[in-house]
Amino acid sequence: MPASLLAELCDLVLPSACAGCGTERVPLRFGTCRACAAALEALAPYPAMPVPPPPGMPSCVAVGAYAGALRGVLLAYKEKGRHRLARPLGALLAAAVAEIAPDRSRPVLVVPVPSTARAVRERHGDHMARLATHAVRRLRAAGWQADVIQPLRSSPRPDSASLDAVGRRAVAESSLRIRPGRIRVLRREPTMRRTLIVVDDIVTTGATLAAVTSRLGEVNVQVEGAAVLAATQLRKAGPGGFAGLPPGRVHRAVRHQFGSPNEG
Ligand SMILES: [Zn+2]
Repeated sequence: MPASLLAELCDLVLPSACAGCGTERVPLRFGTCRACAAALEALAPYPAMPVPPPPGMPSCVAVGAYAGALRGVLLAYKEKGRHRLARPLGALLAAAVAEIAPDRSRPVLVVPVPSTARAVRERHGDHMARLATHAVRRLRAAGWQADVIQPLRSSPRPDSASLDAVGRRAVAESSLRIRPGRIRVLRREPTMRRTLIVVDDIVTTGATLAAVTSRLGEVNVQVEGAAVLAATQLRKAGPGGFAGLPPGRVHRAVRHQFGSPNEG
C-alpha cells in the first residue's frame, strides 16, 4: 500500500486533534477544524519587514502573523510530524510568492532556506523543501512556470536563540555553503528572465533571509524578494518591532487571490 494512501486511511480511522487549535473529536478537513480552515483562508499576504531591517534584507511578504491557527498548523507540521499539512501550508506560501511575483509570464524560482542535516533528521525530512515543492505545485496549477532550486546547503551551526540580530546574522551567514553545480544551473538563465524568491516558514529578525540573499549575491545571483508563512510580532512599534500592513486591510484574502489552501 502506498504510504500516502495509508496516511489517508489512518486519518479516517484515527482522527487527531485540529492542527490549528487542538480541539479534539471534531470533523477535520486537511487536518484542521472548520473554524481554523476558515481562519487560514481569510489570511491575506502583506508586506512584512523587520524594524530595523538587517543589511541585505530583501522585500518580504508574509501570509499572516505567527499566531492563532497559522501558528498551530505550522507547529503541528514542523514539530509534531504532521507532514500532510505541507499541502495547505504550501498553498498559503504560494499566495505569498504570487504577491511578490504576480507576473505569470515570468518564470519563478523558489529557493527554500536550507535546513541543517540535524533538523532534517529530527523532523524526518527537510520541512522547507517539502513546503516549497507544494507551493510550486500550486503555482504551476495557477499558471506560473515555477521550480524549486536549492543552491545553498546549511552546515551545522550553534544555537543562535540567545544571540542578538548581528550575532544571528553572522552565525547564519557563516553556515551557508554554496553548491557550485546549482549556481552554474542558475547562471545559465539570465536574471532578467526569471524571478528568484527565497522562502522560509517564519521571519523574526530577518537575519536568515538577509544571510541567504547576501550569500547568493556574492556569487552574483540576485534575489527578488522573500515569502514566508508567518511573521512574528516582537513589538508593536519601536526598535526591533515589525512594520507591515495589518493583515486583511489592503490585500485580498488568500482564497480570493489564489484559491483556497484547503482544496485540491
Ligand atoms: Zn481548529
